[in-house]
Amino acid sequence: MSNFIVDPSMPLTGLINLEQPLNLDAYQQNGGYQGAQKALNMNCAECLDVVKNSGLKGRGGAGFPTGMKWSFVPMFDEGDENAPDNKYLVCNADEMEPGTFKDRLLIEGNPHQLVESMIIGARTIGANKAYIFLRGEYFLAAKRIQNAIDEAYKAGWLGNNIQGSNFQLDLYLHTSAGRYICGEETALINALEGKRANPRAKPPFPQVSGLFGKPTIVNNVETLCNLPHIFKNGGDWFKAFSPNSDPGSKIYGASGRVKNPGLWEMPMGMTIRHVLYDKAGGMQDGLKFRGLLPGGASTDFLVEEHLDTPMDYDNIAKVGSRLGTAGLIVLDDHNCPVGMVLNLLQFFAQESCGYCTPCRDGTPWVVEILTRIENGQGALADIDSLEKLCDFMWIGKTHCALAPGAVEPLRSALKYFHDDFLEHIDKGCCPIKHGNKLAT
Ligand code: NAD
Repeated sequence: MSNFIVDPSMPLTGLINLEQPLNLDAYQQNGGYQGAQKALNMNCAECLDVVKNSGLKGRGGAGFPTGMKWSFVPMFDEGDENAPDNKYLVCNADEMEPGTFKDRLLIEGNPHQLVESMIIGARTIGANKAYIFLRGEYFLAAKRIQNAIDEAYKAGWLGNNIQGSNFQLDLYLHTSAGRYICGEETALINALEGKRANPRAKPPFPQVSGLFGKPTIVNNVETLCNLPHIFKNGGDWFKAFSPNSDPGSKIYGASGRVKNPGLWEMPMGMTIRHVLYDKAGGMQDGLKFRGLLPGGASTDFLVEEHLDTPMDYDNIAKVGSRLGTAGLIVLDDHNCPVGMVLNLLQFFAQESCGYCTPCRDGTPWVVEILTRIENGQGALADIDSLEKLCDFMWIGKTHCALAPGAVEPLRSALKYFHDDFLEHIDKGCCPIKHGNKLAT
């Protein structure tokens, strides 16, 4: 795990201990499970109001309002014969977005916070079964979360009649066999059902027909981990935490050749400059900043002129990218933007499930063209082809968000680093690899 310094004033990470996370008793002594107790004292509708009023948005990358999403789950009165025999809550912990490692920190550093979150989420939507779908390579996280689940069962926080209430919840850990596409919520549901992890067509959305055809909520680890704090401290506290319209805190990250790569929890809406320079320490000696992907690999590049943009969903969208996971991937002047995009597209091509033509054929086609350009064998017509492929693989033309996500760094690289593409073609080589790049 890279740099992380605990700031006790921060809600999600204030109790993180990566050496030895808090056991159940210690977690409770530090205020843990108070939010869950409050949720147990309320009915589902009251819990849903708390989530809606908080203004929480999904932290997996899309930023969809959590309360609105949960309100699509059908609610039934007790004893209603039309009620489904089950609903499910699924925690998406399949963290595979390149440059993103915030959920790993949360699970390894404070697993009881996630168990408490699952109790509150399940209570709110009226689910009696819940799953944590964990990235297969997160071995330590798997051990620690399973240990926390076992402790919670023993202490009556899971199982039947939780803390003497009439609420019952069984929580299962499922480790992924490993594919990026398993993080797409309907592919994840297929994988949980033991099927091949191809995304499903939406609608129907999982909120109505998800796991085993039943109403299901799938939410990211960081999203869910906000619940104990929202229930304990209230929606107004959550809103007041951030200086702008997107409430709460955010775990920001930075990777690439910065002085201090790592993770930092701060109020939502910190500027990119603050994260890059005050937290990540700026570029390593001898390197200049060229650009960054603000929220994992499937976001558009931003450059120097965007550094004062607040990192929240609306403001990052206004400058043409997405907040995504808020994990900055930073490009310096000694790395080739064409090579970087090629590397990312190789990843997306490998991870395509192959279901739809634009993704199955489009991503390897882009890789082939970028390889040609990077190796100095490209032609001007290749740039034209890449631009056409960006359109061919865009939203509405594909089965899920994988190919449009893959296109985001490509189309923005063609915009901001156009001269680099031209130079490769002009010079017949990668100017940075061959050391004859003109000063930028
Ligand atoms: P999406 O916008 O389609 O959906 C986001 C959530 O909102 C889903 O739960 C969906 O069910 C719900 N939703 C959206 N529209 C709805 C509607 N009309 N009615 C009801 N519910 C609706 O995004 P997505 O495809 O789920 O996720 C894409 C995002 O995932 C990207 O932003 C990408 O950055 C991110 N991502 C993150 C990781 C990671 O490791 N954290 C990995 C891959 C992708």
